Amino acid sequence: MDAQRRNQYLEAIGVDVWVARRDSRTAAEEAAAAHVEVAEAGGHSLASFGLRAEEPAARPQSGLAALSSVAVPLPADLAAEWSRLRTEVATCTRCALHSSRTQGVFGVGNPEADWLVIGEAPGAEEDRRGEPFVGRAGQLLDAMLKAIGLSRETNVFIANVLKSRPPGNRDPKPEEVAACLPYLMRQIALMRPRLMLAVGRIAAQNLLSTDMPLGRLRGRVHHFGELNTPLIVTYHPAYLLRTPGDKRKAWEDLKFARDVFRQLM
Ligand code: URA
Repeated sequence: MDAQRRNQYLEAIGVDVWVARRDSRTAAEEAAAAHVEVAEAGGHSLASFGLRAEEPAARPQSGLAALSSVAVPLPADLAAEWSRLRTEVATCTRCALHSSRTQGVFGVGNPEADWLVIGEAPGAEEDRRGEPFVGRAGQLLDAMLKAIGLSRETNVFIANVLKSRPPGNRDPKPEEVAACLPYLMRQIALMRPRLMLAVGRIAAQNLLSTDMPLGRLRGRVHHFGELNTPLIVTYHPAYLLRTPGDKRKAWEDLKFARDVFRQLM
């Protein structure tokens, strides 16, 4: 990925990017210098953030997956487990949400990915299409993930705490979370992700069993479940659409997550 594409990704998530001008330089020299700066207090260069967005955050896919976008089939027993779980979610009646939802939203992506991104619950568009994060917030999430080399097509799995849409996009009720969380736990047990990224307060608080505000959960590595999976918290993309000034902090979170992931390798 070249600097131009990297900048496009950053611009797509709303992080202002500019190229430093040197009056004495020609445009070509400027381009060659490609000193891209991120608009933040102090104006550090991307390099000074240690940012190389072109490097995938995830380990390279091996075998066929590296050569094509066609997923390598899961081992048969694992595929059967996923399929069973998918059917259970589709037919679930554990909480009252089943009567108002269009369909259960299981999750999307590579079930063998190293990264698991977890949101709150399907919204209207997700309920209609049966896939998480497909509305405007989803587009932003995709752009954010792309900026660190992740994509639902190849190397990340995306799921929610709740598989059914709460009407009117209200917050999930505790009894709904209690009923639905076992599905996510089973997804995690099957996937064994190396890193989990909780997007938004609801996901973070429910996964970490805390009522700490999101601001205090960011910027450090938590651990989840029996496998002690590293878990990092960032803002929900829907919040970032409402509060674009915080995109910079989300970008810091993503870089932090990417760095933590690299250290795990
Ligand atoms: N918000 C979420 O938390 N999850 C989705 O799938 C869509 C919007």
